[in-house]
Amino acid sequence: MQKVKVRDKKKLTESVRDYAQSLGADIFGVADPFNRLLQAAPEGHRPQDYLKGAKSVVVLGMVVIKHVLNTTPSTIYSKHYDTINECLNAAAYGVAKFLKRSGYESIHFPETDNYKVLWRQYEAGYQKFVPSFNHMAAAEAAGLGKKGICGVLLTPEYGPRVRWISIVTEAPLVKGNAFSGEICLEKIQSNTCQKCVRSCPIGAISVEGGTDVRRCWVYWNQLRDMGSACGVCIRNCPVGEKTWLSPIQSK
Ligand code: SF4
Ligand code: SF4
Repeated sequence: MQKVKVRDKKKLTESVRDYAQSLGADIFGVADPFNRLLQAAPEGHRPQDYLKGAKSVVVLGMVVIKHVLNTTPSTIYSKHYDTINECLNAAAYGVAKFLKRSGYESIHFPETDNYKVLWRQYEAGYQKFVPSFNHMAAAEAAGLGKKGICGVLLTPEYGPRVRWISIVTEAPLVKGNAFSGEICLEKIQSNTCQKCVRSCPIGAISVEGGTDVRRCWVYWNQLRDMGSACGVCIRNCPVGEKTWLSPIQSK
């Protein structure tokens, strides 16, 4: 198939967005692969390390249903978490094929790395895990949100109740602009929220240090072994407490 010319990149971007929506994406964005947030990844994990001719990073978000999250810690939320991840993986695979059929090499990544890999990092003493690809950094670079005190990306529409996935592609797409300002209430003004800090059952979040991902990881896995899951911090975040979905969000 003939490549779409660069001057048609708006049209191409819209067609990718529409296709992503048809696969269940609630939020769509495009980041510059050379954005500093993506270039901050260790060598081997940057967009150009995976795809030499990378020109765009497509980011898809799927919304966590609030009333399901409200039950957490619960097996209902644990299953919902897995369902969203499966949907994200399928959507990223579909979008990567769509781009490939349009003439552009692309690579997609799992929504979460295999837990065995993350355990190895934990046992090796990593203070922050190194994912194959940092989806939250890509979403922030695409201008879809900003990190809160809890360490999770907050979107203006849904707060932290979104899961993400990314596709690196050679397609020249229209990029989003970085989000200006803060979204987290505590970052906007001190001592106005801290709900994530107060609600974490193991005290793994602090205003100064953010989330202790090692402690969170151990507790999270204990619950998962029992068929449950945590997510109490994102349940209690007051940002974006909408209970219904808006039309697809894109930048
Ligand atoms: S997921 Fe649970 S344990 Fe981890 S930081 Fe959030 S509330 Fe704490
Ligand atoms: S609960 Fe409050 S302090 Fe925590 S991330 Fe949300 S807005 Fe920020």
